[in-house]
Parts: sequence; structure tokens; C-alpha cells
Amino acid sequence: MGLVVQKYGGSSVADAEGIKRVAKRIAATKRAGHEVVVVVSAMGDTTDNLIDLAEQVSPRPPARELDMLLTSGERISMAVLAMAISNLGLEARSFTGSQAGVITDSSHGRARIIDVTPGRIRAALDEGSIAIVAGFQGVSQDTKDITTLGRGGSDTTAVALAAALKADVCEIYTDVDGVYTADPRIVPTARKINRIATEEMLEMAANGAKILMLRCVEYARNYDLPIHVRSSFSPHEGTWVTDAPIPEAFASPRVSQELQQQPVIVGIPHDDKEAKVTVVGVRDDPGIAAVIFKAIAQAEINIDMIVQNVSVGPSGRTDVSFTLPKAEGARAIDALEKVKPAVGFERVEYDDQIGKISLVGVGMRSHPGVSARMFEALAREQINLEMISTSEIRISVVTRADQLEGAVRAVHTAFGLDAKVEAVVYGGSGR
Ligand code: ADP
Ligand code: ASP
Ligand code: MG
Repeated sequence: MGLVVQKYGGSSVADAEGIKRVAKRIAATKRAGHEVVVVVSAMGDTTDNLIDLAEQVSPRPPARELDMLLTSGERISMAVLAMAISNLGLEARSFTGSQAGVITDSSHGRARIIDVTPGRIRAALDEGSIAIVAGFQGVSQDTKDITTLGRGGSDTTAVALAAALKADVCEIYTDVDGVYTADPRIVPTARKINRIATEEMLEMAANGAKILMLRCVEYARNYDLPIHVRSSFSPHEGTWVTDAPIPEAFASPRVSQELQQQPVIVGIPHDDKEAKVTVVGVRDDPGIAAVIFKAIAQAEINIDMIVQNVSVGPSGRTDVSFTLPKAEGARAIDALEKVKPAVGFERVEYDDQIGKISLVGVGMRSHPGVSARMFEALAREQINLEMISTSEIRISVVTRADQLEGAVRAVHTAFGLDAKVEAVVYGGSGR
């Protein structure tokens, strides 16, 4: 007997039919003799709809109240799912994040989990119950207010609970059969990855592959917890995200025994949620970049790529560009305007019509020529590269937003990743 944490995303529980389907799957796992903890997301596009509602009544809703509103989405699904399971003759109890012991800091909208004390979940399991936990939410240690963990945060709830309960595996159920070499909604010939190293999955998640939230992968790596990403709509084996041995009780013998040949490129994530800020006419003096980026950091904005060149010509001035999530754009501009007198730049330009495509794979370390091949594929499509950044196992480029999808398909083909069969997308709106 093992302990499994199963997370079901919004598209898996989009309506009553979906909830009944998921309930059957949970019941089958329980009847197979396992202890089962379920983390559930809000139904379908509920979270987006609640955000739209909030914005209709206030252009900048107070963060505390927005979290209170958004967490109601997960509370609906947890209770309805518990009802569906009890209708199948098994005992299920639902818990909010706070009741499940998910303790966070107090940053509303992007809270970090600082502790998990799942006493009530453990007790429910000991009494033979299935525990259903509302994902994406916790309670602040300091203020005792309800917090949310950021979009996609139910993935992190699931992995954090699995680590705290010492589960054998965390299964992430979604609307595709696993992690693919690219988003199957954009590249129909994307290939399912059977197994991926955590450092590669971190780069995929950090660069836009929203199939797993970045923090959930960080958490899993820190706790050596295997993640199995799979579809709730099909019985197929999905993708194992782990550096450790795959737990045999929860895997098909085929995958457990498979000796993976490591490809050079594992995947091509893309991101259409970033914008570019350019600070024009910055003095090319020591300390100026520090002032700019300190202002951004103090506004608690995470930036991604930075590009700056030394000034050529007699002006002594240069431009500094960086990318950041579109959602933080307005705050970044406010923060920069405040330091304008100290920095003495000319103006700030904001461009949200950009896209970022990345190439990820540990094989890059030992294979020269990867960037040349990527840039050639983009050149054939007449795609201009506006920014480039690299890590040891990743190359990212910024393009125009309307060229992004074509770029992903071209690079996917150039690296020989296309499969012969088309990937299945079972549900979801891709929103
Ligand atoms: P859930 O609601 O189950 O959390 P998400 O919408 O957050 O589901 O994530 C699943 C979606 O992630 C898929 O439908 C797919 O469009 C998208 N996706 C992006 N990149 C990838 C990738 N590399 N592999 C698989 N899916 C991806
Ligand atoms: N419902 C939340 C969201 O849409 C959390 C999640 O689904 O993981 O982001
Ligand atoms: Mg998700």
C-alpha cells in the first residue's frame, strides 16, 4: 500500500460529468489499497471569470479581497468532488488550504508556502477517508489572512502536501497526456516525453510551459519527490519528472524499465505573457544599472532577460532593455519614473507585443552548434531576433508576438522533434 497525492486541474473538473469521471478514478485508486489525498483546482475557467468579475467592480481590487474571492473557486470543486466520491460509497472529506495546514507568507496573489502542517489530513487518512484539499490557497502565518499561491498554484499545493505527507508520488492530472516537446495546442506534432530531469523541467516551466507551475518543480526537486504528469481523460502513462528511481507500484513496467536515450533538446517552451521595457538614453556610468534594477526589485518585480550594450559614439548614453511579466508592467513603469531624476534617462518604452521562445536540453552542454541551428530555422521564416539570452542548458530569444507560434513550429521541426501522430488535447480552453 502506498500514499498518493493526485491533483486535478480545472479542465479535468470543468462540469458535473468531469467531476464524476474524476471521482471514479479516485475511488479506483483507493480501492486498489492506496491512501489518497486529492488536490483540486477551480472548475474550468472559474478563476479567470472571478478575476473578470472583480475587475468589473474595481480597476485595482484590493489584494486581500481578491484572494478571498479567488479561493472560493477551489472551495466549490472540493465540496462537489467529495459529494461525488461519497455517492460511490467511499468516505471523502474536503478541506480548505488553511484547514489542510498550508501556511504561507503574506504576499497576496503570489504567496510562498513556508510550512505545511497536515495534521487533519493525516487524521482523515488514518480514519480511512479520502482527503480532498482546495488547491492554490493557504493562510498567512503573520496576518492569518487567506492567500493564493499564484496562477497554476494548485500544482504547488499538491507537491507541498505530498512532500509533507511523505507520499510515494504526486500525480498531476490534466488535459493532455503528459509533458510534450512543445505545447500541443500550438505544435500538433509535439512528442510526449516519457521522462524528464528536474533541471530540464525547471527550465521548461520557467520559460512558459504552463503544464507545471515553476514552484512545484522546485519543491519536488528539493524533496526528491517524483511527479507523474498525465491525463485525467485517458489511461495512458504520462511523463515522469524525477531524478530518482520511478516508484514501481505507480508506474507501468514499460516505463520503469525503459532506458532513456538522452536527446540533445528535450523541449521548446514558449511564453506570450511577457513584455519588454526599454529605458532609453541612460548615462553609461558605473552604478546606473544598479539604481534602475534596485527600483524594480523594491517594487517586488521579477525580471527575466536584460540587454544592455556600451554606448557607441560621443553621447555617452545607452539603452537598457529587460523583459518581465505583462501583469507587472504598470508597476515597473511607475517604479522607473520615480528614479528618473537620479538616473537621468530620456524616457521609458513599453512593448507588450513580444513573444519568447526557448530551447531546453542538458545535451546542449556537450553539443556545439545548437544556437546556430536555432537561428537558421528562425531566419528561414524571416523572424527577427530582438533579444537573446542563454543558460548552460537553454537558449531563449524574443520575437514579435505574432511570429511566436510559427517560430516554435519551425524550431521544433529543425531539431527533428516532430512525431508521426498528432497529440491529443482532451479539454480545456487553453486560457
Ligand atoms: P490544468 O488546468 O490541468 O492545470 P493547465 O492549462 O495549467 O492545466 O496546463 C495544461 C496545458 O499546458 C495544456 O493544455 C497545454 O496547452 C499547456 N502546455 C504548455 N506547454 C506544454 C508542454 N510542453 N507540454 C504539455 N502541455 C503544455
Ligand atoms: N485555479 C487556479 C488558476 O487557475 C489555480 C490552479 O488551477 O492551479 O490559476
Ligand atoms: Mg495548471
